[in-house]
Amino acid sequence: MTALVWFRNDLRSLDHAALSAAVAAGPCRAVYFLCPAQLDEHGIAPIRRHYLRRALQALAEQLAELGIPFDIIDAAHFRHIPKMLADYCQQYGIAQVFAHEELLVDEMQRDAACKRALSIPLTLLDDCLIHPSLGTKDDGSAYKVFTPYSRRARQSLREHFPRVLPRPQAQAAATATARIEAFGEERDSDPWPVTEKAVLDQLREFCAQRAVKYSDQRNFPAVDGTSRLSAALALGVISPRQCLARLQLECGEAMWDAKSSAGNWFNELLWREFYRQVAFHFPQVVKGRAFQADTERLRWRNKREHFAAWQAGETGYPIVDAGMRQLAQTGWMHNRLRMVTASFLCKHLHIDWRWGERHFLEQLIDADFASNNGGWQWAASTGTDAVPYFRIFNPTTQSQRFDADGEFIKQFIPELRELSGKALHQPKNVAGYPQAIVDHKESRETCLALFQEIRD
Ligand SMILES: Cc1cc2nc3c(=O)[nH]c(=O)nc-3n(C[C@H](O)[C@H](O)[C@H](O)COP(=O)(O)OP(=O)(O)OC[C@H]3O[C@@H](n4cnc5c(N)ncnc54)[C@H](O)[C@@H]3O)c2cc1C
Repeated sequence: MTALVWFRNDLRSLDHAALSAAVAAGPCRAVYFLCPAQLDEHGIAPIRRHYLRRALQALAEQLAELGIPFDIIDAAHFRHIPKMLADYCQQYGIAQVFAHEELLVDEMQRDAACKRALSIPLTLLDDCLIHPSLGTKDDGSAYKVFTPYSRRARQSLREHFPRVLPRPQAQAAATATARIEAFGEERDSDPWPVTEKAVLDQLREFCAQRAVKYSDQRNFPAVDGTSRLSAALALGVISPRQCLARLQLECGEAMWDAKSSAGNWFNELLWREFYRQVAFHFPQVVKGRAFQADTERLRWRNKREHFAAWQAGETGYPIVDAGMRQLAQTGWMHNRLRMVTASFLCKHLHIDWRWGERHFLEQLIDADFASNNGGWQWAASTGTDAVPYFRIFNPTTQSQRFDADGEFIKQFIPELRELSGKALHQPKNVAGYPQAIVDHKESRETCLALFQEIRD
């Protein structure tokens, strides 16, 4: 009897529990359901679509080498999948389906519908570093604060270091693969490695050369100080277990010290897990609601012209504008700038964080619902373990601290190339560059008043 592995956001052949289980269960086929209408609904970025197509192509080639037939089925929309999966299983005489769990509420409902539609077992396997149902406090409740969560997660991972599964043995001679056609508007993602080999090389290089400097470099957008693995992690071309295993190999014991550079990078992988467990335990955040219910009463100003200026990188605040232009031009933004630009939108322009969350989803190559939502609600002070509402980034100070010589700013804002010092960080009357659209002090006062209103 034939087994089926159903790929979702886990487009790899290494460390893939569902693939290994399907191969072990007998001859196996593989399937992926493409949902272009769903991608449109979520406004998925053209660069992300291109990256997804390349990742599927790379996976198809990998599976062909293993002799595993792979079908990419156009399901148009999520809701059609249960019936299409049942039909597919009937057509190929599938006896059992294996997939990794996806822990967002819509995905869990889809999987429940699939179980009902199938007359054969659908086995869902864990693909987390720490499963949300296990990463809870002693009383069984979910963590709402990152530090105790990360302490617990670290301890548990130290006791049970996750195993990285090998690629399964080939089940037949290699077959040829077809070229996967575009499914909607695309934008070139070629600079982003996508094959498993290339992404593993990227991981190896980062852990061997740069993880030790991570703490010193990670906050400076002009420095290539972070791993840039987010796009590959978001589509599951690489697993967080592979990241940990390589970190341990290159950095050894240091990774367990949260204050070391390697430990600091480990922490970022845990933030990713943390936001996944928040979305699992508090599904209202996945439905567009704030984690802190009282912040739903915030009276955002939502001025369209301010939103347009922010999107275009024309606010007159160089660090904000450089970040937004990096996003528009490259489909990726440095973490420090995601924090600064998100904070600016909510706390200086007083625009609802959901507008920014959607815009990031529409632009980012690494768009990941849980991390993006977590990042936005953190910046807007509406989320779990969010920045306190009265902590408002001063964009000029951020610029002076993290891009003192303006190396990054000048890369994205050529109009400011000739400037330095205060004139660069707080430009006034520069030809071709806008004046600041809001005053920092006034905006800060308004933001405090907005939050005060809901606290009274
Ligand atoms: C407003 C806002 C929106 C964000 N949206 C996304 C998003 O859609 N997708 C996304 O992957 N990350 C998002 N992040 C988190 C973070 O900015 C990116 O993961 C990071 O910049 C990716 O670069 P890197 O791979 O070089 O990260 P590294 O610094 O090398 O970190 C390694 C990995 O850890 C994870 N990670 C790092 N920082 C965070 C974090 N703060 N929260 C969750 N996971 C983290 C990522 O998977 C990342 O690839 C957002 C942050 C903010 C403030």
